[in-house]
Amino acid sequence: MRSLVWFRRDLRVTDNSALAHAAERSTDGVVGLFILTPGQWRLHDDADAKVHFWLQNLQSLSQSLAALNIPLRVVSCDKFDQVPKLVCQSVSQFGCGDVYFNAEYEVNERSRDAQVTDALQSQSIQVHASDDRVIVRPGKIKTKEDRPYQVFTPYRRVWDTLACDDMTPLAIPPKQPKVDLKASKIPTELAGFDFSAARPDLWPAGEAEVDKRLAKFKAKIGSYGTDRDIPSISGTSQLSPYLAAGVVSPRQCLAVAIGRRNGSFTIPSATGPATWVSELTWRDFYTDVMVNAPRVSMHQPFKRSTNKIRWRDDPDDFAAWCEGRTGYPIVDAGMRQLNQTGWMHNRLRMVTAMFLTKHLLIDWRWGEKYFMQKLIDGDLAANNGGWQWSASTGTDSVPYFRIFNPFSQSKRFDPDGKYITRFCPELGNVPAKALHDSKKLADSVGDPTMNYPQCIVDHKFARQRALDEFKRIGDAH
Ligand code: FAD
Repeated sequence: MRSLVWFRRDLRVTDNSALAHAAERSTDGVVGLFILTPGQWRLHDDADAKVHFWLQNLQSLSQSLAALNIPLRVVSCDKFDQVPKLVCQSVSQFGCGDVYFNAEYEVNERSRDAQVTDALQSQSIQVHASDDRVIVRPGKIKTKEDRPYQVFTPYRRVWDTLACDDMTPLAIPPKQPKVDLKASKIPTELAGFDFSAARPDLWPAGEAEVDKRLAKFKAKIGSYGTDRDIPSISGTSQLSPYLAAGVVSPRQCLAVAIGRRNGSFTIPSATGPATWVSELTWRDFYTDVMVNAPRVSMHQPFKRSTNKIRWRDDPDDFAAWCEGRTGYPIVDAGMRQLNQTGWMHNRLRMVTAMFLTKHLLIDWRWGEKYFMQKLIDGDLAANNGGWQWSASTGTDSVPYFRIFNPFSQSKRFDPDGKYITRFCPELGNVPAKALHDSKKLADSVGDPTMNYPQCIVDHKFARQRALDEFKRIGDAH
């Protein structure tokens, strides 16, 4: 029987469960399918940078599949509602008897997959879905009362006992029998998306790039525990765009960090690798939260009581934040990094998100949407988790009274101002100390030729305003 592998955000040939199973079981060749759904992607706020990255990786995937005699066919429809018809048509056109894919866990994606499965099964086509996107499948980890965990640490304890169960990454499948079909040409443009600012120099596509990044990171994982918070250096793996597009699997990442004892894999205890594994666990945790509490992906806070917060409706302040002109150097540098590169360092994601939701008291949903529209690694579960953490509306989020002081943050994590001045070059002549001190900074930027704004809001005033509002809504905090 000939099999169809429907690729989505799993654009790789290594350790790809759906592809490996199809290749193992098929007797008459394998065909790959990818469906472009630009209208749906726009509805989901998928960033230009991310969609460009997908297309570039599709090109690379198509080449890797061709080497295995698997042609990659690319078809297009506007939104998910037309996908079931398109998959059925492809299956019949390519003469396939079964379909393999890796599960996606977002609400619209799950509903699309359920409809595709029904449509295929009604035509006696077998459907095989694998859990491949996270290390421990969502819903698997439960409390003794059979409830999902709402707090990370106990979730992590159980996760540790399961994560290495099925650890050996799957190999690239062997060459398949030839199929008499040509691979599609991968588009380089897509209506409704603007790729003019894409940065393939920063984010080269393909699994060969993943191998380089994994090897480079493995060599420095020992210092991850401390380096991960310094935005001026490359102390983290910078694998998030590749994980989000599935160019690398989370198991391949875990394999970099874990050890082996008596023939079994063990979760590391050394600071660097252990901290990195924690981050991979947060990725699983937020996916689990999204699946168990789907409201979080539908613009609702995890903590329902926080719906009572009176967020400020201030488009001007929001625009200043988006454009990186709040007058807080560390915040502005973070936002400019996002706007210029499609990626932002994790420390800065926390600082900028907290600044928007606490200092400006602007709705976390505005920021969540803006991030999604810009991030090359935009991932609904992780982005929502990060935003609700910062806004104190989420599960296991930062307590509302722990509000970062942006000046203390930059003093601690960017003491010499290297990161700040990389993205705010107009501050290049300001002494480092003044970058972390509101009064000294106000004197320095008083010079209009510098063209850098005064602070948009006073830290003390803003902090108190946020505290008062959170106190007002009372309960749950
Ligand atoms: P590393 O430090 O090397 O971590 C390895 C991997 O672990 C990352 O690639 C990522 O897949 C995962 N990871 C790390 N931290 C987290 C975390 N806190 N939550 C979930 N997964 C994590 N991450 C995304 O992948 N997509 C997003 O859309 C996203 N939006 C965020 C929004 C906010 C407000 C915040 C505070 C965080 C967000 N994160 C998001 C998490 C984190 O900032 C990025 O994963 C990280 O900066 C990516 O860089 P890296 O690959 O070098 O990470």
